[in-house]
Amino acid sequence: MDIITIDKQGEKISLDAIPTVPPNKTDKNEAKRELDVLGEELFDLQDLLWGARMNSVLIVLQGRDTAGKDGTIKHVAGYLNPRGVSVASFGVPSEEEREHDFLWRIHQRTPRKGELAIFNRSHYEDVLVVRVNKLAPESLWRERYGHIRDFEEMLAEHGTIILKFFLHISREEQEQRLLDREKEPRKAWKINAGDWEDREHWDDYTQAYEEVLARTSTKKAPWTIVPADSKWYRNLVVARTLVEALRPHRKRWQERLDEVGTRKKAELEAWRKGK
Ligand code: ATP
Repeated sequence: MDIITIDKQGEKISLDAIPTVPPNKTDKNEAKRELDVLGEELFDLQDLLWGARMNSVLIVLQGRDTAGKDGTIKHVAGYLNPRGVSVASFGVPSEEEREHDFLWRIHQRTPRKGELAIFNRSHYEDVLVVRVNKLAPESLWRERYGHIRDFEEMLAEHGTIILKFFLHISREEQEQRLLDREKEPRKAWKINAGDWEDREHWDDYTQAYEEVLARTSTKKAPWTIVPADSKWYRNLVVARTLVEALRPHRKRWQERLDEVGTRKKAELEAWRKGK
């Protein structure tokens, strides 16, 4: 599986040239089996993350309407121990939020040591919807790429492992999903005329996302482009990227837990002797 992860600034990305569907040779049943194995490893890694309290994990999910942000959260969070997981959704800013800088509401929801936070939309809306719908002057939102890089670098310096996912769906698949919402009574509550309106700005969003990918991909906070037309493949790419990012920390976390265990045993021994 070739997962496209961008970890340096300046790469010119053409989203139209990147597939939204799984590679031909990918077998759905095999993918589901792999996902279950990854899920177990993820649970185990999260346990170490929680106990060691050396790092935190921030997962940023971005994508067009219907790209599957909610579905991805349901799936990935399903593998995790709810203790230590938080999900934050960022909608239209409230009046109070608008009266602060754009990162104010975001910073309040970043994970503390040991925790894993999932962002359903994020500070990236401030260079996406704000740009496309002209909610702020260009001179203002353009400065934000630098602010975002600095902010994420600061979080990384504090031990936050940052993974950003762009859920990449095709125009056709989005149309199908929007129409399905009208057909299926259980999905109709999600209908929103604004989603059809946004489709009229498809190319503007493409351009805005391409610039996000080019300007805010860094070693410490890379973007992964997830082909998201098939839900099972989308889940597999996210889970695999996450496990591969956490795995290198396993040894360090385990060692910290061993150290803590040894110290606690010695304290107990000393207490028993002193009785
Ligand atoms: P979703 O479409 O993510 O499933 P939703 O339709 O239930 O969510 P909300 O979560 O209430 O709606 O809000 C999402 C909307 O908020 C999106 O249209 C998004 O563009 C908008 N939004 C998010 N951040 C900002 C921002 N900083 N400025 C303006 N609009 C924003």
